[in-house]
Amino acid sequence: GGSGSADRTAKGRRIIMEDSSKKLSEQLLFKAKNAYDDGAEGTAQKARDYAEGYKAFLDAAKTEREAVKRGIEMAEAEGFRPFRFGEKLERGGKYYYNNCGKSLYLFSLGSEDIERDGIRITAAHVDSPRLDLKQHPLFEEGGFSYFKTHYYGGIKKYQWVTIPLALHGVVVRADGSTVDVCVGEDESDPLFTIPDLLIHLASEQMTQPMNKGIKGENMNLLIGSEPFTDTEVSERVKLETMKLLSERYGITEEDFISAELSAVPAAKARDIGFDRSMVGAYGHDDRVCAYPELTALFECADSRHTMLVILADKEETGSDGVTGMQSDVLGDVIHAISDAYGASDAAVRAASACLSADVSAAFDPMHADVYDRRNAAVMGGGVVMNKYTGSRGKYGTSDASAEFVGRIRRILDGAGVVWQTAELGKVDAGGGGTVAAYIARHGINTVDLGVPVLSMHAPYETISKVDLYMTHLALCAFNSRD
Ligand code: MN
Ligand code: MN
Repeated sequence: GGSGSADRTAKGRRIIMEDSSKKLSEQLLFKAKNAYDDGAEGTAQKARDYAEGYKAFLDAAKTEREAVKRGIEMAEAEGFRPFRFGEKLERGGKYYYNNCGKSLYLFSLGSEDIERDGIRITAAHVDSPRLDLKQHPLFEEGGFSYFKTHYYGGIKKYQWVTIPLALHGVVVRADGSTVDVCVGEDESDPLFTIPDLLIHLASEQMTQPMNKGIKGENMNLLIGSEPFTDTEVSERVKLETMKLLSERYGITEEDFISAELSAVPAAKARDIGFDRSMVGAYGHDDRVCAYPELTALFECADSRHTMLVILADKEETGSDGVTGMQSDVLGDVIHAISDAYGASDAAVRAASACLSADVSAAFDPMHADVYDRRNAAVMGGGVVMNKYTGSRGKYGTSDASAEFVGRIRRILDGAGVVWQTAELGKVDAGGGGTVAAYIARHGINTVDLGVPVLSMHAPYETISKVDLYMTHLALCAFNSRD
């Protein structure tokens, strides 16, 4: 009632008058944290150790197919078994569902009442921006052979020319057999590149805006220059290139029609800085969250809670298709899990919670004008929560509720995780989305949480090791705490 409220107000005034201003400031004002000053023993060293496993994962998993393959290897080593729809799941079991080799669902079934406890879901995506080959990719021009590409995801095209590129993917031959392709990762492999105009002749090109300087249709991968020996045939360079591909992979030009081949940056994950505090690599977005999802699942898989880890595909192009998060597969997996408990899957979904584990933009002091300093993620500031994503008036976001943010806040603070909250940039500066909305649409409370990244979507992105480690700790806390 009214008198109780008046009592509280009086008490509040008394506290304020008795306290020094410094103490008051500590009590009332928010203070941003730094992961290096978290008060725990050896956090920086633990983060450095943790990053070693992450770098190896990055180098083994440059495409969604490779990430799924590596995820399955890691899961099988932890006792997870393959699951097919129609099979009966057992409580206490650990399973994975391989969706077409391009997205992966890993789950461990706990002992709690699942209609009350729900499923703890963490979802990251394992596709990254790259240059896909067209279905008729091979051609010869001016003494060179090339592959035509169509870029995948949001890229600044000028960043992708004159850099070393590797080729990854699969070709399905006419007889239905499949051959894996991976060229450019071994030190002895050749590489590929997209040439750009020399500066000496670029006076016209250099007057173009940055989105026009390099044209998507001209992003052709240089793959050969030596002609076939017989001078009587036409397109001798193209023929020589195709001959080499046929010898190595047993394919014909027509087989590219049923192929998925992608040019990705050839660089390996490496430490950045004299202090080795950061990691530079291709495709942090979003393997930097996929890897902690896996380690946090394996660390907590024997808890009494039911957990589901999702490695999604097609996030960078809108989450469509069989392997994107807009497909019905998530609902099917939840139904299969619920079935093992004889539970209503609507009840399970309503009790479930999800961290959409994706990257956010790290504040870049060299481009400070696009960020709101008060709501920007700082590298070294720990794992970052984005209550909402979207752009221009919060379009395209699920916008987590205050109650759900409060619940995650208590979990993270209770576990001593250093974390921060942010949004992608200044209002109307741009924006972006994640898979959060496509999970929330199932009636599952969802919020975005992940690692701040510098140069997001560039061929070489940078993250902080302590932020990565805090993400692992955050996901562990989410999986295991009540
Ligand atoms: Mn992402
Ligand atoms: Mn992205």
